Amino acid sequence: MSLVRVENVSKEYLLGEQRVTALRDVTMHIEEGVFLAIAGPSGSGKSTLLNLIGCIDTPTRGRVFIDGQDVSGRTPDQLADLRARTIGFVFQTFNLLPVLSAAENVEYPLLQLPELTRKERLERVGRLLKLVQLGKYAHHRPNQLSGGQRQRVAIARALAAQPRIVLADEPTANLDHKTGEGILALMKDINVSLGTTFIFSTHDKKVMARADRLVRIEDGQIRMLGVRADARWLVVDERRRRTERAAQQAAREKA
Ligand code: ADP
Ligand code: MG
Repeated sequence: MSLVRVENVSKEYLLGEQRVTALRDVTMHIEEGVFLAIAGPSGSGKSTLLNLIGCIDTPTRGRVFIDGQDVSGRTPDQLADLRARTIGFVFQTFNLLPVLSAAENVEYPLLQLPELTRKERLERVGRLLKLVQLGKYAHHRPNQLSGGQRQRVAIARALAAQPRIVLADEPTANLDHKTGEGILALMKDINVSLGTTFIFSTHDKKVMARADRLVRIEDGQIRMLGVRADARWLVVDERRRRTERAAQQAAREKA
């Protein structure tokens, strides 16, 4: 069974009087354990898609299933609980709480899990900071850390509740190339060692190259789904070509 299923999802935003269509009839299935890149130009709908998968937002039409459960009909409280235990988030701008230390930032989401004792929380925080190679920086505040270190804290925080899915919205966009490479390598290591599913958006070709699944999105529609095979992308579904072919066929039939 797919870990995430997006079925015929459309998302429209109202901007004053104007209706903006961010996603048009998107259908995709994501298997557990993948390292998946959502690639597309700015404004193509990447963040909207991640927010819908992350249950931060709800679709205008269509349904989203997480681990087989339809999340469309959930109350905000139920969604918050599902998010807390199933999904971790990493953002382009890190979004750490500036008054908290690195360790406190990582601990923060664990305060929502009443089954953990303080001792268990602190042990887990220590383990995660070590995992992201920041064991020595536990007491530093975000403004005492570099961009790459902040994103490592954010990754540790995203992993704190031991989620099955980590969603990362352009996680390397605010980092220089070398630092971004390090963050991606860290995400891949965690993907392999813990089996956590990673879904990240990017418009950087070098970032796409690290993925094992690729979803190409343009103008709110999926244009291509690819699977890495050897060093190449195997196109498993090229929707533009298909719709173009269908249009050509229809035109021929008409003529
Ligand atoms: P991307 O992340 O690929 O840059 P987004 O998902 O942020 O794209 O945006 C897709 C489209 O939806 C864009 O046209 C954007 O302007 C619009 N959009 C996104 N969020 C909102 C919002 N909250 N209100 C109105 N329009 C929005
Ligand atoms: Mg975006």
